[in-house]
Amino acid sequence: MLGINTQKKESAFWDKQKETISVADLKSLQIAKLRESVRFVAEHSDFYRQRKKLLEHDASFNSLDEFSKKIPFTTKEDLLQSELYENLCVPKKNLVEMHSSSGTSAKPVYSFLTKQDIQKSSEYLARTWYMQGVREESLFAMMASYGLFSAGLLNHYAIQQIKSFIIPIGGSSALKTLGILREFSVDSCAAVASYYSYLIAMAKQNNIRLSDLRLRHIIAGGEPFSENQRCYVEKELNAKMYDQYGLCEINTGLAGECAEKNGLHILADYVYPEIVHPASGEVLEENQEGELVLTTFYKQASPLLRYRTGDITSISYASCPCGRTMPRISRIKRRTTDTLFYKGVNIEKPYIAKLIEGLQGYLNPYIWQIELNSDAGRDEAVLKIVLEQSERENALDHITAYLQRSLDFKIKTRVFTADELARLGNSKLKNFLDNRNN
Ligand SMILES: [Zn+2]
Repeated sequence: MLGINTQKKESAFWDKQKETISVADLKSLQIAKLRESVRFVAEHSDFYRQRKKLLEHDASFNSLDEFSKKIPFTTKEDLLQSELYENLCVPKKNLVEMHSSSGTSAKPVYSFLTKQDIQKSSEYLARTWYMQGVREESLFAMMASYGLFSAGLLNHYAIQQIKSFIIPIGGSSALKTLGILREFSVDSCAAVASYYSYLIAMAKQNNIRLSDLRLRHIIAGGEPFSENQRCYVEKELNAKMYDQYGLCEINTGLAGECAEKNGLHILADYVYPEIVHPASGEVLEENQEGELVLTTFYKQASPLLRYRTGDITSISYASCPCGRTMPRISRIKRRTTDTLFYKGVNIEKPYIAKLIEGLQGYLNPYIWQIELNSDAGRDEAVLKIVLEQSERENALDHITAYLQRSLDFKIKTRVFTADELARLGNSKLKNFLDNRNN
């Protein structure tokens, strides 16, 4: 063949200098940026001045340890109790966009952005996407919802830095999405993790051949997924699936897996990550599991110091075979509040997810929902499932017996089609829906 590989060898890095900084240089940079962040909120934020009593001289620490000892945590409850613009650090006229957390709490947490906030976010997040295989020549489909949810727009801007061709699918129907993926030979995409299983189920139900798709890089965020789930999606879609982590209050796309799939490189020159004991708040050592706490370096409008994410992980500064020196956080498997209490039983969410994976073959192990209801004060639990086409006979009997053996509580089972079940969710189907306190 003529003209084989005339392209110049492409770099594995989006910003090699920053991505391969020495750990010592990274730590010096973090101290300098943390001082700036503390000084900035002490000067501009009513929230930090009044509620956290921070003054400019609180920025006079000389080590990361000293920072952790001196600066108090910020919690989601703090933000929910504050006034709308209490933490706003710029004049309102400088705001260009806002996003809100998708939580089910009565009041969402808003994150405001200036033009510079968006520029910084895009500049840093582009690294995560590039690391996960997105290139200028990529045909990329953004399947996360746009709108208030920060994952759509902020990631869209970041991918624009790479100059890829982005198709903003957002919350379009699964059939329309599958049509676009096929028609445009989309090679890279992003969605909440469970959406891929749903797409696969919808393709099968509608006799759409998955082998007609050309996906290579699948990025999943927004919720934890198991290694089994990853294997399933990768096999069905014949592509690599990478985890990504972020949260609205700080930023989407903050950390992502490289090709090694051994932890998520966090943008530690964009945010400062700490791992703390969830109960005592004590800062933990490398590789110890605890709650992730983040401090923003560049956010002008809604900066946060030592924000408790509620996500349980660990951090490692060990070198990665990919060459990046940015530390890696382990994949988030649970949150500090990952337990539901039901009739005196603690329902451990990861345990249930594992249990349902054990029913593979009978039901779709990744599209399901447990709904807890209170009917005239009487709690009841319902498991909503999608049956596999081939195993319909006796499936329900088997599932019921299996659950009875494995659970300390009674649960009713109801069967849905994948489409019906997905329609119950909004941008993502929650595996656990607790209606009892509403
Ligand atoms: Zn790596």
